[in-house]
Amino acid sequence: MHDYSKLISYLSEYGVSVSDDQIKKLDTYYEMMIETNKSLNLTAITEFDDVLIKHYIDSVTIVRDIDMSGNKSLIDVGTGAGFPGMVLKIIFPELNITLFDSLQKRLTFLNEVISALNLTGISTYHGRAEEAGHVSSMREQYDLCVSRAVANLPVLCELCLPFVKTGGIFIAYKSDKGNIELESASHALSVLNASLIKEDTFTLPDSDMVRDLLIFSKDSSCPKSYPRKPGTPSKKPL
Ligand code: SAM
Repeated sequence: MHDYSKLISYLSEYGVSVSDDQIKKLDTYYEMMIETNKSLNLTAITEFDDVLIKHYIDSVTIVRDIDMSGNKSLIDVGTGAGFPGMVLKIIFPELNITLFDSLQKRLTFLNEVISALNLTGISTYHGRAEEAGHVSSMREQYDLCVSRAVANLPVLCELCLPFVKTGGIFIAYKSDKGNIELESASHALSVLNASLIKEDTFTLPDSDMVRDLLIFSKDSSCPKSYPRKPGTPSKKPL
C-alpha cells in the first residue's frame, strides 16, 4: 500500500474524511492503471508520488469550490484514464457518475476498475461529445460536468455545456493559461447561454504547479444546433 497522507490531509482541510476502504480502492486503481499502461497508453505520469499530486489531488481540487455531497449527477467529458471522474467517484461515493470518452479501449479499462472496486452509481459511455450532446438521455441531464485536458475553452464549452441542466455547473480544469482561454471563450459562453461564476487559481500542494478551475453556470438551454457535428467545434471554434 502506498502513502496517501498528502491526499488525506488535503481533503481534511475541506472537511472531507477518507476511509481505509477508499484508500484501498485508490491503490487498486493505481496498480491497475500502471499494469494496463504497459500495453495501452493511459498516462505519461506513472511514479506514485506524481500520480498522487498530478492526478489524484488534482482531480479532487473542485472541493475548494463545489459542494460535492449528495447524489448529484456528474459527467466527465474526455475522462481518459478516469481523471477527474473516477477519483471523484471513489472520494464522493454518492455521486452518480458518467465517464465519457471517444476511445473505447480506455473505457474498457475503466469498466474493469469499476468491477474490481465494486462501484455502483457509475457507468461509462462511448461516443463523441458532439453526437452524445444531442442524445435525449444525456442532453441537459447533468447537475455537474467536469473536463480536464480535452480542448481549448471555446471548443470545450461546445462539447460540455449541452450536457448540463439549466441551473447546473460546468467546471473546466485548466493549468496556468486559464485566464487567456477565458477571454477567448466569451462568444462561446454567450451563444451557449452560460456565464462564469468563478475563476479559482491556486497551486497544487507541495509543488509550484498552477491550476485554474473555471466554473460556469448554465443559465438557460443551449440552442438546438449545438454541439455542431464531430470535428466542427475544433475546426471552427465559436
Ligand atoms: N481527462 C483525462 C485526463 O485529464 O487525464 C484525459 C485527457 S486526454 C488528453 C483527452 C481525452 O479526451 C482522450 O481520452 C480522448 O479520447 C477524449 N476526447 C477528445 N475529444 C473528445 C470528444 N469530442 N468526445 C469524447 N471524448 C473526447
